Amino acid sequence: MKSITKIFLILGLFAFLLVAFAPSSSVATVNLESDGYTEAEAKLIEEKGEKFTFQTEVNKLMNIIINSLYSKKEIFLRELISNASDALDKIRFLALTNADLLGEGEQSNLDIHIKIDKANNVLHITDRGVGMTKDELVRNLGTIAQSGTKEFIKKVSDSAESSNLIGQFGVGFYSLFLVADSVVVTSKSNDDDQYVWTSDSQSSYTIAKDPKGNTLGRGTRISLHIKDDSKEFLDQEVIKQLVKKYSQFINFPIYLYVSEEVEIPKEEQEDSKPITDDQVEETTTTTEEGEEETTTEEEGQTEEKKTKTVYKWEELNDSKPLWMKAAKDVTKEEYTEFFRSLSKTQDTPITYSHFKTEGDTEFRSILYIPENPPSNMFDLEAAGSGLKLFVRRVFITDNLKELVPNWLRFLVGVIDSDDLPLNVSREMLQQNKILDAIKKKVIGKFISMIKELSEDEDKTKYNEFFKKFGSSMKLGAIEDQANKKRLTKYLLFPSSKEELTTFAGYVERMKEGQDQIYFITGKSKDSVEASPLIEQAIKKGYEVLFLVDPIDEYLVPQLDKFDDKYKFTNLARSGVKFNEDKEEEDQRKQTAEEFKPLLSYLKKTLSDKLEKVVISKVLADSPSILVSNSWGVTANQERIMKAQAHQANAQPQFNSKKIMEINPSHPLIKKLLNRLNEFGEEDETTKVSAHVLYETSALTAGYSIDNPTNFADFIYKLMMINGDSLAQTNFETTKNENSGPSVSFGDDDENQQQDFQQPPQSTHDEL
Ligand code: ADP
Ligand code: MG
Repeated sequence: MKSITKIFLILGLFAFLLVAFAPSSSVATVNLESDGYTEAEAKLIEEKGEKFTFQTEVNKLMNIIINSLYSKKEIFLRELISNASDALDKIRFLALTNADLLGEGEQSNLDIHIKIDKANNVLHITDRGVGMTKDELVRNLGTIAQSGTKEFIKKVSDSAESSNLIGQFGVGFYSLFLVADSVVVTSKSNDDDQYVWTSDSQSSYTIAKDPKGNTLGRGTRISLHIKDDSKEFLDQEVIKQLVKKYSQFINFPIYLYVSEEVEIPKEEQEDSKPITDDQVEETTTTTEEGEEETTTEEEGQTEEKKTKTVYKWEELNDSKPLWMKAAKDVTKEEYTEFFRSLSKTQDTPITYSHFKTEGDTEFRSILYIPENPPSNMFDLEAAGSGLKLFVRRVFITDNLKELVPNWLRFLVGVIDSDDLPLNVSREMLQQNKILDAIKKKVIGKFISMIKELSEDEDKTKYNEFFKKFGSSMKLGAIEDQANKKRLTKYLLFPSSKEELTTFAGYVERMKEGQDQIYFITGKSKDSVEASPLIEQAIKKGYEVLFLVDPIDEYLVPQLDKFDDKYKFTNLARSGVKFNEDKEEEDQRKQTAEEFKPLLSYLKKTLSDKLEKVVISKVLADSPSILVSNSWGVTANQERIMKAQAHQANAQPQFNSKKIMEINPSHPLIKKLLNRLNEFGEEDETTKVSAHVLYETSALTAGYSIDNPTNFADFIYKLMMINGDSLAQTNFETTKNENSGPSVSFGDDDENQQQDFQQPPQSTHDEL
């Protein structure tokens, strides 16, 4: 026994000397000998191998990864296992139409093996996936093909929050350089010989045909030469923990070659066996179990205590898919972890649903509403959705746009259909009736999830959801005719009375006799709250909804009547009606008669801009406002269209004429009427005032001024008129708050009155 240990020691020393004193030319930057190649083979790979340089993006990506993820280097294992799992998914998918592709015997086992070679500081991860041909090795490991990744590199390069972004994109293969200074990838595809790809993370890599021939059967082995500062990843307990943490939901078994010290039972100690173990050096996948005996002799003790090291492949994950389990057997933590593995984030989903449908379409599913929207939620060109489609446990695709409508693309989860044929092709999927049925059920499930959320006593969760996904819900209410009504119920809006309210909540608070839902659209809650358009509604005690999301402009025209009863009324359009009693109505008619001269004067003076001028029902404190007719462009629409046109580099044209509403109880309007009656239509002060009134109405309504220079000219003229009159009076005695440079008409002050009654002088000739 002892002599055997000694032989091992000597052998080990010999190996050390060999490595340490080997001629430097044969010591490649990538130490292939520790990968099980003989010196001759290593030399062959070195010399015969073709050298390639990485695409510049690859170098950039490597730098980004190494600089920003240093503290999270453990994720390399998640990435490599996820690649192995993808490769297994691919061969399983291909084998659906050609079972021969799987091969026979062990080779047909779709699994992942991890082996730690402590003596050489190498970690091997081997899968029996599709493998890569020589060309694929060049293409997949030497370049970055996906445009998404390229864009990601750009984003990350100028962003401080790179580690978050990286999480969402998945960093992939190159993350191995966080823990390894060099790597050997051995791969065998059904379509090519076995090749060896090596790199030491510098700018180049080498590819050579494997001198050992086909040892893998099919698949890929990634051998990481672990850096000195990352030796913890050669500890089997650490690897076990990491697989548990990041890869527990991989649907293929993950085995780790583990060693265990066990005491040798008394009876066995008699007939000691020679060591048969060659597993220590072995790097390919073996399912046999090996053992190795060691003897420890403690000084002063007569009795020998015998232990042996047993090696075995231990399965680390439970590869039974989570969705195949009964919901009662799955813990909340498991659901959360599963979500994290699907979304590649560390987020906690807002809510989830695990269900099985029966009847016309049968499928199992776990659906999650994620904590955060995906970064490409509204990039409709971007690939697929967060949903993975399986057919009877076989992964089919995560890139199927038809699985959910556009507005629901943020959903994360899995769908495992029992009805779809296993040999589905993309074309078949796109026009499959079963898919339509699945889609319908998924939407239904989503709606019941938000129903439940919204009915929760604690409103914060639903409000939080809506803040992040409200625009998607609205998009649904616009696009999805079949679900418009159902979705509309769950929309939330800020209002003059509530932080956030549903339409139903609004209706509940309605005043007696109220039969309309009043709303205003605009840029922000602050801006619409200050709008003159809501004055009268607020004064009369009506609640006003603040529709301040740009998409609201598209949503509202789609909504007919809420609950088939309540019309939506935009306070920025003409013809707003509040419930008036007879007295109010008569009063208004009388006022209209009285103000007729002013109405027609304004219409005439501003005829190129105004469709008509009317007595306002919406104003209470402001003199006048512009509204649009029922088909015209409102100020908020104009703002949005201008922003869009700006993005598209176009020049939008807004030709629609506005309607001016005046407030007859406002002192300014009263004075303007008086002045008109007194000095007639030719009076310049009246004319200039009309123009200024128009422009300020446009401004307060939220329109931008078409011609700022014109506007300024009118203002200067007014100031001149005002200034002249000021000059004629004693400035000291007329000083009051309203006689600043901006002219105020809203005051009954004597001097102001004088200003107005003073016929224009100096400016007269120039006009
Ligand atoms: P991603 O997985 O997002 O495509 P990666 O950087 O992780 O990006 O991998 C790059 C590509 O290399 C993969 O798309 C795949 O084609 C190939 N690849 C990586 N690992 C393996 C593997 N174990 N088996 C087969 N192909 C692989
Ligand atoms: Mg990957």
